[in-house]
Amino acid sequence: MSHNSLTFVRKFILVAMVVITIFIGLIFLAFNIRSEELTISVIHQQAKSLFGQMILVRRWVTSHGGVYVKVRPGVDPNPYLTSLPGLKVNIIDESGQQYTLRNPGVVTREISELANKEGGYSFHISSLQPVNPSTNTPDDFERNSLVMFEKGSREAFTIEQRPEGPVYRYMAPLYYESTCSRCHSNQGYSIGDIRGGISVSIPIKEVYSKMRTNRLYTGGAALMVLTLLLATLTYITRRFVRALKESELKLVEMAATDSLTGFLNRRAGMMRIEEELSRQKRSGEKISCLMLDIDHFKKVNDTYGHQAGDTVLARFAAVLGDSLRKHDIICRYGGEEFIVLLPETDLASAIVTAQKICDCTHKNSIKYRDTGIKVTVSIGVAQLQQDESVDSLIWRADEALYHAKSSGRNCVKVAIQELSA
Ligand code: GH3
Ligand code: MG
Ligand code: MG
Repeated sequence: MSHNSLTFVRKFILVAMVVITIFIGLIFLAFNIRSEELTISVIHQQAKSLFGQMILVRRWVTSHGGVYVKVRPGVDPNPYLTSLPGLKVNIIDESGQQYTLRNPGVVTREISELANKEGGYSFHISSLQPVNPSTNTPDDFERNSLVMFEKGSREAFTIEQRPEGPVYRYMAPLYYESTCSRCHSNQGYSIGDIRGGISVSIPIKEVYSKMRTNRLYTGGAALMVLTLLLATLTYITRRFVRALKESELKLVEMAATDSLTGFLNRRAGMMRIEEELSRQKRSGEKISCLMLDIDHFKKVNDTYGHQAGDTVLARFAAVLGDSLRKHDIICRYGGEEFIVLLPETDLASAIVTAQKICDCTHKNSIKYRDTGIKVTVSIGVAQLQQDESVDSLIWRADEALYHAKSSGRNCVKVAIQELSA
């Protein structure tokens, strides 16, 4: 695989991984935000319905003109009511038990205290013009909400961070109704005026800690999904790149190999020989070349057929391979012609090797079906000269081969230059 296409694949996969990471991260983030929004909206509905219930209680109390409760320690008459003219604030029954009037404001405060004790949430009535400043003065959230109600808002809410934990605050306005006039006629309100509001406070520390745990779970799940996906992607990519590299290697090998003999083909052989010669030029070692050609091979084809010729070629190639060393370069140069490059080999050793091949070929007959086919080989030998080119070396080996052919074949001949030397 070329370096460029590998870099492309790697870059592509990297970009895909980043995109997948962002995509999955966003999905889980959106999922988390949505589920937290849903939780908060449930709390909002709860606060709203608590407010509604409180309004119902107040309406009920007002519709009866207030309720009388037994006076006992901690349940005292409301001093504000006693100051109002025309109200029977305290009454005594026939047994002498004293009762005192409870108006919606006090009922709200007392229910709030009860709710705070039992349910953890609380109510608070406040007004920008409080009747009883000690209990009805608005806090910051309430004041802002009341100002907004004056401007037309119908509800207000916020999450307040307090030392004991976050608290959900909800507030809606209280309207001046005809029944309010019994206690509030001296404040100058008209019917429909906003005379204050009731706020509901619900501690949400526990909900927050559950939301945090949920966030951890979804974050963990996202991380696991992402890890699994990226690991799978990495694995598949590695396998894919390896398979590509292997098939490319196979292709290169196939393109370089002669299928009948398993040796290098002419093009690949020439490249390897060029490489070897340039390596030799640096080391300065001796190097020799053999040029081989099977004798009267045409006759083998003519006598036994082309298939038999192929078998002979393959068997001859096997014998040739067995007679040489691992690092010798063998190349099928033409039909029944081969070139062998012998690194680290001087002329004398090259002649010995060539003669061994010649003798071995001559001695053994090649079995084809029921017949044994005998062939011989002629070999030209040349040793690389100082600064000699590949072409020149091959040309001289070929010349020596021609000499072997003309000398009756089945023999080894040495190039003229070496002979004169
Ligand atoms: P010489 O001793 O002078 O080399 O004679 P020769 O018959 O070997 O030489 P020539 O060049 O006349 O013939 C070579 C023959 O080799 C011709 C061709 O049909 C045959 N040949 C070339 N490649 C193949 C092959 O792959 N398979 C087979 N069966 N024959 C082949
Ligand atoms: Mg031949
Ligand atoms: Mg030939």
